[in-house]
Amino acid sequence: MNKSNLMNHRTNTTRNCEECGTIIKGRSDKRFCDDHCRSAYNYRSARKENQELQRVHKQLKRNRKILKLFWDAGQLDSVKY
Ligand SMILES: [Zn+2]
Repeated sequence: MNKSNLMNHRTNTTRNCEECGTIIKGRSDKRFCDDHCRSAYNYRSARKENQELQRVHKQLKRNRKILKLFWDAGQLDSVKY
């Protein structure tokens, strides 16, 4: 396949908007039909990432709380003896 065939193939490919599913005409490397869909998609994926971070943070906080309990128990022991 020569270069111009490859270009034609790319141009003729239709894609669907990753946000709303609308068929995108034109350049095949476009992922969204318009700016609204692009920002909506990016906002959602950023929020998803944030939720993942919050989940990890929650777990870390819990671990820290448990460690603090052990630490405090250790402190009390050393005061006692
Ligand atoms: Zn769209």
